[in-house]
Amino acid sequence: DLASVSTRADRDDGGWIVNGTKIWTSNAHTNDWFICLLRTTPLEADSNKREGLSQVLIDLHNTDGLELSPIPFLNGEHHFNEVSFTDVFVPDENIVGQAGMGWNQNTTEMAYERGGPDRWLSPFSTVEQLLRETQGTDIGERATELFGELTARWWSMRNLSLSVARLIDDGEAPSIESSLVKEMGTRFEIEVIEKLVELVDHQLTPESESLFQRLLAQCVLTGPGNTIRGGTIEILRSVASKGLQGLPA
Ligand SMILES: Cc1cc2nc3c(=O)[nH]c(=O)nc-3n(C[C@H](O)[C@H](O)[C@H](O)COP(=O)(O)OP(=O)(O)OC[C@H]3O[C@@H](n4cnc5c(N)ncnc54)[C@H](O)[C@@H]3O)c2cc1C
Repeated sequence: DLASVSTRADRDDGGWIVNGTKIWTSNAHTNDWFICLLRTTPLEADSNKREGLSQVLIDLHNTDGLELSPIPFLNGEHHFNEVSFTDVFVPDENIVGQAGMGWNQNTTEMAYERGGPDRWLSPFSTVEQLLRETQGTDIGERATELFGELTARWWSMRNLSLSVARLIDDGEAPSIESSLVKEMGTRFEIEVIEKLVELVDHQLTPESESLFQRLLAQCVLTGPGNTIRGGTIEILRSVASKGLQGLPA
C-alpha cells in the first residue's frame, strides 16, 4: 500500500529534513542517486493519502544521516538494500517535478517500467544462447515447435510494448495498457522459463560450463521477482479493472 508511505520530509530552511526508511531499494549500493517517495504534508485523519507525497532525488554517497543495509537474497547475492534516513537534509532543488504531486508522477512514470520489454525479455537471450550452442545439430521437433511458438508470442508482446511506448510519446499516461502488458508479460516469462527447464530436463546449476544453462539458472532465480517488482500481478489487475471502470486507481 504505497500511498501509506510514512517516511517523511519536514520543511527546513532551503529544503527538507527526512526521517524514516525505504525498503527494497534495488542496487542502491552500486548507484550514485535514487528517487524516493516521501510524505511532505502530514497525513490527517480525514485527508486523502495520495496527496501530500513528493518525489525527491537523493545523493547516495555524499549525504549525512543516510545508511544502507543490505537485504541478501536467499542465495546470498546482494541486490536489495534498506535505506534509512536520520535527519537527512535534502535541498529544494532535489524535488522531482512538483512538491505534493508525487503520487500522480509516480503512477504515471510506472508506465515506462510496466510497459517496457525488460519484464518479459529475460529468457530471450537464454534461448538465443541455446540456439548458438546447438548450431549445426538437430534440436529435435519438440524444441523446434517450442521456439516457433515462443517467437510468435514474443512478437505479439513486442507489439504491445511498442503500443505503450507510442502512447507515452503522444503525451498520454497509459496506466491500464502498461499494467496489462506487465501482467501478461511476466506470466509469459515464467511460462517460457518453465518450458525451457522441461526441455533441458536435468539439474541446473549456476556453475554449469554451458552459458545457456547458467543463464537459465539465473532466469529461474529472477523470473518470479519480476511478477512482484513494479507492481504484483494482483495489483496490476486491480489497476486495469479500476481504470476500465473509470474508478480512481
Ligand atoms: C526483484 C525486486 C526488485 C525490487 N526493486 C525495488 C526497488 O528498486 N524500489 C522499490 O521501491 N521497490 C522495489 N521492489 C519492491 C516491490 O515494488 C514490492 O515488493 C511490490 O510492489 C509488492 O509490494 P509489497 O512487497 O509491499 O507486497 P504487498 O503489497 O504486501 O503484497 C503482498 C501480497 O498481497 C497481494 N496484495 C496486496 N494488496 C492487494 C490488493 N489490494 N488486492 C489483492 N492483492 C493484494 C500482492 O499481490 C502480494 O501477493 C522490488 C521487488 C522485487 C521482488
